[in-house]
Amino acid sequence: MEKEQAKPRFVSLKIKWALGTAIGSLLISLIVITALFSSFTRDLLNQERQSLNGSLVTISHQLGSTTRSNNITTQQIDHLLQKRIESQTVNQARRSYQGPIIQEIINPRTEVAIYNRQDHLVFSTGTLYRAPAKVKTSKIQLVSGKKHKILLGRSPIYSQATKRVVGYLQIENHLNNYYQRYNRLLLISTLALTLVVIASGLLGYGLSYLILRPLDDIQSTIVAIRDDPTKNQRVPELNRNDELAELSQIFNSMLDRMQRYIDQQSQFVGDVSHELRTPVAIIQGHMQMLQRWGKDDPQVLEESIPAVIAETNRMNSLVQEMLDLSRAEQVELNFRDATTPVRDVVHQVYNNFKMIHPDFEFMLDDDLRHDEVVRIYRDHLEQILIILCDNAVKYSGERKKIHLSLSRNLRAVEIGVQDFGEGISPEELSKVFDRFYRVDKARSRKKGGNGLGLAIAKRLIEGYHGTITVESQLGSGSLFRLTLPIIDTESTNPEKDHKREK
Ligand code: ADP
Repeated sequence: MEKEQAKPRFVSLKIKWALGTAIGSLLISLIVITALFSSFTRDLLNQERQSLNGSLVTISHQLGSTTRSNNITTQQIDHLLQKRIESQTVNQARRSYQGPIIQEIINPRTEVAIYNRQDHLVFSTGTLYRAPAKVKTSKIQLVSGKKHKILLGRSPIYSQATKRVVGYLQIENHLNNYYQRYNRLLLISTLALTLVVIASGLLGYGLSYLILRPLDDIQSTIVAIRDDPTKNQRVPELNRNDELAELSQIFNSMLDRMQRYIDQQSQFVGDVSHELRTPVAIIQGHMQMLQRWGKDDPQVLEESIPAVIAETNRMNSLVQEMLDLSRAEQVELNFRDATTPVRDVVHQVYNNFKMIHPDFEFMLDDDLRHDEVVRIYRDHLEQILIILCDNAVKYSGERKKIHLSLSRNLRAVEIGVQDFGEGISPEELSKVFDRFYRVDKARSRKKGGNGLGLAIAKRLIEGYHGTITVESQLGSGSLFRLTLPIIDTESTNPEKDHKREK
């Protein structure tokens, strides 16, 4: 616990996930909302600009078409606007104006001012922020106003009769309406953005909580196993089908495997020390005899020295077999890609045994039509067959007949090794593949058996995904049967499609 406190501050994955989604959605929404916002406000400003341009054109055109003198005058404008009541305020005037030009002038969004050629004001609808200027062509600009930017349109007024400048028109749009809508849109966008960020953060947290819940189970199992490796705890069934369920399954099977290795290891050490105790005790006994009487009694020398040599030989073969056994457990790792033509090996072992044991009648029943290739290291297949044939010879008794068979089924090659000797009782049958198991310990020892042969054969064959089984009847003999998956190749297997291995 103290160690954990010294680590950098713990930040839950759920918080990280929630933050990640919130920041992600903030960025995306920010881009989308900014794009929408700027296009909408640009459109709004364009509308205002177009409307101001329309006003500039309409008013200057109408004034130009009605002006016959050199300069524009108030009377002329009054006349044009058909002003009913003299000396009215601008707002009152706005209400009383009539005629085509009026629509533009009474527009509440704009302030209109008309100047004569000398820049004297002849008409205005209200306060203007900008002073008049003599312009040669009509133009609209975005300029700074009192609180914010405003649109300023200026245009010369040409008399259509004289084609000369008779005055200047200035229109200001203070953009109040635009900014009102701009601010409302800004407020809505900010609210939407905040809402999106909060909602996505909460959603991210909720989702990660649901998804990562099994991590707590996995973690508690890991902690329990770390604290007590002998504990039999596993991650509980998760009832889902995602990566975490897969992870917990893999983790559980890894724990099972480790447990099996630990059990095997401790049992192996127990078995080995048990097996070594007898030869060591025998050697010790003989050595003590030699120490006491060996110098004087040649009889003791003669008896003890061969006995010690025999026991050390036995120990030697025992150590070798134990080494074979521990190697047999690793074939899966070391000889994964080895392949062997099975017929070759069976014939070779058959011929060798026929030669070594001329007193035995060996038979080989080969039903293979092709020389099938199996996935096994050649020496290992040979070793398994030698173990089985050795046993068949050792436990044959008086009926010295051994029958080998070789055939295939849909997916695998089958090899049989049958003898007609003493056989194995049904109770012993399941135990003969166990390490150091011997049906008749004393007799087996006499025959040089350590009880490891079948254990080695089983580990080897299973390492290559094959099987080994035994059928036996006491007094009638035993049949050991091996199967090994066939490698599916064009050359070795014409019925390839039906016999694919896996
Ligand atoms: P061992 O080195 O003692 O032969 P194995 O592992 O090869 O050890 O065999 C285990 C035991 O199984 C043997 O001790 C023997 O009792 C029995 N066994 C093995 N093969 C045969 C067989 N062909 N016939 C009868 N008994 C057998």
